[in-house]
Amino acid sequence: MLTPAPLRPEKLIVNVTIPLTILAVAIPAPLYKTYDYLAPNMSDTTSIKVGQRVSVEFGHRRVVGIIVEIKESTDTPIEKLKPVMQHPTDPVIFDATLLGLIRWAATYYCHPLGECLSAATPTLARKNAALPDLESRRWKRTDKEFSGPSNAKHQRQILDFISDSNEGVWQETLKLLKATPKQLAQLEEKGYLSKTDSLAFSISASSSEPAKKVALNSAQQTAYEKLKPLKGFAAALFEGVTGSGKTEVYIKKVADCLQQGKQALILIPEINLSPQTFARFQTQLSTPIALVHSGLSDKEKYRSWLMAKTGLAHVIIGTRSAIFTPFDNLGLIVVDEEHDSSYKQIDGFRYSARDLAVKRAQLEGCPVILGTATPSLESLYNANQGHYQHVRLSERAGAGKLPTVQLIDIKSRPLTDGCSPPLLHRMREELAAGNQIIVFQNRRGYAPTLMCSGCGQLLQCEHCDARMTVHSYPPHMHCHHCDYKQAIPAACEHCQCQEFTPLGAGTERIEAGLIHQFPDVDVIRIDRDTIKNQNALNQALDKIHSGRPAIIVGTQMLSKGHDFHHVTLVAVLDADGLFFSGDFRAIERGAQQLTQVAGRTGRGEKAGQVLVQTRIPEHPLFEHVIAHDYHQCAEIELEDRIQCLLPPHAKMISIRAEAKNQSANIDTLQRLHSALLDALPPENEAQFIGPIEASMARKQGFYRSYLTLINHSSTERAALQRAIPSALQLVKTRGVRISVDVDPHEYI
Ligand code: ADP
Ligand code: ZN
Repeated sequence: MLTPAPLRPEKLIVNVTIPLTILAVAIPAPLYKTYDYLAPNMSDTTSIKVGQRVSVEFGHRRVVGIIVEIKESTDTPIEKLKPVMQHPTDPVIFDATLLGLIRWAATYYCHPLGECLSAATPTLARKNAALPDLESRRWKRTDKEFSGPSNAKHQRQILDFISDSNEGVWQETLKLLKATPKQLAQLEEKGYLSKTDSLAFSISASSSEPAKKVALNSAQQTAYEKLKPLKGFAAALFEGVTGSGKTEVYIKKVADCLQQGKQALILIPEINLSPQTFARFQTQLSTPIALVHSGLSDKEKYRSWLMAKTGLAHVIIGTRSAIFTPFDNLGLIVVDEEHDSSYKQIDGFRYSARDLAVKRAQLEGCPVILGTATPSLESLYNANQGHYQHVRLSERAGAGKLPTVQLIDIKSRPLTDGCSPPLLHRMREELAAGNQIIVFQNRRGYAPTLMCSGCGQLLQCEHCDARMTVHSYPPHMHCHHCDYKQAIPAACEHCQCQEFTPLGAGTERIEAGLIHQFPDVDVIRIDRDTIKNQNALNQALDKIHSGRPAIIVGTQMLSKGHDFHHVTLVAVLDADGLFFSGDFRAIERGAQQLTQVAGRTGRGEKAGQVLVQTRIPEHPLFEHVIAHDYHQCAEIELEDRIQCLLPPHAKMISIRAEAKNQSANIDTLQRLHSALLDALPPENEAQFIGPIEASMARKQGFYRSYLTLINHSSTERAALQRAIPSALQLVKTRGVRISVDVDPHEYI
């Protein structure tokens, strides 16, 4: 029999305080702090993890928050702590790196952490419901030769796609090819396909063999080699003229990444580019690719999210919010068209997905490639400062040649629905030669202004200090700032005159004019009013890709990234409108838009031409546009910005107040100014501009004013970012909404 060892004296001291497990939870509410809760009353709390969802009582509501810290002590009196409502059982939503990124973003963008996390959580997971499972079916091609009817094009396409993969293709992925489960089951029944239902699948090198390789030309090959190998963090600005074949270089880098058993994230600026980008990646990389964009249902988005998180999808192609996709093993981020302003979220959690991509790459320890023909001055500045590697491609790939650019002086020329006689003449010639034409006008609707023919009054929006746009399909007035719509008035409310004149031309008017001028040609309009969904876009793109003579009228929606091979003429109807506005970024944006839209021609075998209508052809800017020298133009503009102490050299934070009366805004912002001065160290030299009224002082019934903060170093900026949240708490005023925009894209 064993005799118990004598107890040592220290073991006799009984510890009566049982250690508590306290969870710091970020709540989706506009509050700059986290809240402490007690972990569920249980002996084993090891299954509770940072980054998990948890359901808690907040005020009188039950909300879903995210656990951001697990600790043993709290400043809150213990008796006031509430237990969490349910034991968290889900897998972690945010791993340490992603949580780190969002914490960084919350601090940098001065936005409440709970709201940032909520924005980064898939909608399905924001509710207090169990997370759905992923379908796990994979389809493989059998050896049986396809003997379907010759018109079974879609079936053949599905089978060819599946045969490219050794491991089989996920049913999820096949949905992107519009393959329905019923269709797949039929192909299985006929013996062409077999299926497996298992999730046991991981990234393996064999899946990364490109199916149909495009051989890089020597310039692309050099760029590919210059871009650093995929090892550790590195940021590169990849500047290649439109059509220089940047996408092929991305694909080769992604193939390398897959070869290493890692995943890649490709950010694109617009949903409407996703089918094209998806098709190009998918035909060259035989690997599961998932899409993330706002055109998907919540369930589809959740599916892509889970596929990335579990490593089932090897490549994610997505728009802005895809920067928050969780990955099993991320090895590369590509931001295509990095200059594009759609990467900036302009309300709520105002982040830049491009800038977060660089931060994320740094945290993940992987490279990031920022590709564009027209670099943002921010990226160019970072490259010039040596923070980013700078790789350039200056020639078009394949058969394409850069188009010639000519100006048409429209100072004293009559315009017919926006088009000058020499332009119409050239259009006639191109159409007769069987070619396609792009007509670019960055204004939708029929006319931007409606004027009373009697007294000259311009029709204003009731809710904004802005003019209303005339629309003709159906006829109505529409405010593009607040979305307010009204009927076209029967009579002027000032002089009772019943006649109105539409001034200027939007895409609808141009379309109508061109249909009148060229009744036998297809006129395809591409703007937010005609392209409301993927189907509408596909129909328009099918017409364009058919190659039949056509005129494509559109806004900037048309100018981005598309690869049209039959367009030989691009007409820019109002170049001056692109360059001249109150924003200090106007020249940068105008030059980018002009270069991008010009880049849509000359991409096939035939040479391209760009005609630019302007009233000031002598402006030096046009010299760069004609010479295809966006780069030079950007360098000059950057020098000016440095001289004027403007971004990207200096950094800007803009704080907006909105209220039913302007004096409440000004008063709140003045107090905020003082609160910030009190909180900042005396040596901080940040400059304060304002408060001043916004250039459109009233929008959607609210008056708006701004306080702008300019700072010149990262220490100065960090001090401001630390001071802003508590200063905002101090000056909180009923009826005044305040929002902070760090690195804003719109200046007042
Ligand atoms: P970017 O992304 O730089 O605008 P793309 O990658 O879209 O350019 O390429 C423009 C066109 O040139 C596409 O039609 C593409 O298929 C073609 N292309 C790209 N690289 C090559 C190549 N090495 N050989 C032949 N054609 C190419
Ligand atoms: Zn309005």
